[in-house]
Amino acid sequence: MSAPIAERRIEQRRAFHAYPEPSWCEFLTTSRLVDRVKEIGVDEVHVGEAAIAADERVGVPDDDTLERWRTRAAERGAREDVLDATAGGATGLVAVLDRGPGPVVGLRVDIDALPFEEASDDAHEPAVEGFRSENEGIMHACGHDAHMTIGLSVLETVAASDFSGTFKVFFQPAEEVLGGGRPMAESGHVDDVDAFFAVHVGFGHPTGEVVAGARSRSRSGRRARGSPARPRTPARRPTRAGTRCRPWPRRCRTSTGSRATRTRSRA
Ligand SMILES: [Zn+2]
Repeated sequence: MSAPIAERRIEQRRAFHAYPEPSWCEFLTTSRLVDRVKEIGVDEVHVGEAAIAADERVGVPDDDTLERWRTRAAERGAREDVLDATAGGATGLVAVLDRGPGPVVGLRVDIDALPFEEASDDAHEPAVEGFRSENEGIMHACGHDAHMTIGLSVLETVAASDFSGTFKVFFQPAEEVLGGGRPMAESGHVDDVDAFFAVHVGFGHPTGEVVAGARSRSRSGRRARGSPARPRTPARRPTRAGTRCRPWPRRCRTSTGSRATRTRSRA
């Protein structure tokens, strides 16, 4: 990765980190993602109720909470078309590259944050470097800021490649309340996907190491098998991550495969 691209991605990740939004309130996040995928030049962008089956949502906050976050997003310059499409907390988007005949490949990344207070001391890099959460009591403590950046980076890389087929990136809302997976799965956008990938950052391996595995069912009903690659004991959140040291939330552990393919990759 060349230095300017690496710097741009660090900047993107930090911008997401600085403005975390809770589940179903990812209004400005969705708006920023729409801007980015349009810059990349995707062929389709499905936003809000066009990206999810809104009736399948679980864990939607009350109207006052939704309105508070929507208003805050509007004040920060969120796109009006996105605010309309995500009204009532139908957040998230699906970005599609249609590059001719070939397989339909999906990548899912999640976009919401957790109700944690972020550290502000000198040992906490976001505080020192100026990208600590602007939204007190909410923090990207589960790495979804990185996941969004990964989704955008892969999308940009595929767009610039000679890939033939269709590539879809699912920017899924409300992972932290386990409420956004089914709405996205039932949206219709997954139905034609031949190969589906999901990612999660974690602490169980050295920085730069990628661990991969498969545990899925194909459209044909065949099952690809693998067992978890992550350590059996849950990783503990290190204090330098900026939150109180506590077990990694169960919902946020990675589920990758133990017969893992390991490759070294630059972070
Ligand atoms: Zn997570």
